[in-house]
Amino acid sequence: MKFCSECGSAQIQTRVPEGDGRPRLVCGDCGTIHYQNPRLIVGCLVIHDGKMLLLKRTIEPRANKWNLPAGFMENGETVMAGAAREVWEEANAEVEIIKLHSVYTVLPVHQVHCVFLAKLKTPHFSAGAETSEAELFDLDAIPFDELAFHSNHFAIRAYLDNPNFEGVHFGEFSMEDYLKEIEHKV
Ligand code: ZN
Repeated sequence: MKFCSECGSAQIQTRVPEGDGRPRLVCGDCGTIHYQNPRLIVGCLVIHDGKMLLLKRTIEPRANKWNLPAGFMENGETVMAGAAREVWEEANAEVEIIKLHSVYTVLPVHQVHCVFLAKLKTPHFSAGAETSEAELFDLDAIPFDELAFHSNHFAIRAYLDNPNFEGVHFGEFSMEDYLKEIEHKV
């Protein structure tokens, strides 16, 4: 953050405000504390006729990789409405949400991914926004090496391992995981 969104000042400092326990971005002129908190990504694991809907991304990061329909939750919508909206936008498909399936925290980038189990209301889908292909995959043919995100990998693996699990799967991608991954790429 370069400028205070309250007063336009460039005097943004990082310090621990009184009564707080963490460093925050604080405006040196008007005193506004600019809290930064994780962002919520919502999406669906859509199962139809025993197959799973995956979409090929057209945008970075991870263009041309497969992904569950998912994206940033918008203001003014519930998590379930947001998850269904993402399927509508990216796969032109209407879904009925069955349950919350998994919650995955991506610590290095401050994101929380909520994936819902869902089914198609009608057997219609096609490539929508930010998507070049929409395809139903047999559960034994999921392209794990071509998945865009760890959160997808986690949710899909959890589903395959235990399709009838009634609880919620919790997972995380830690800073240590992130550093290990960078090491492997060098
Ligand atoms: Zn200010």
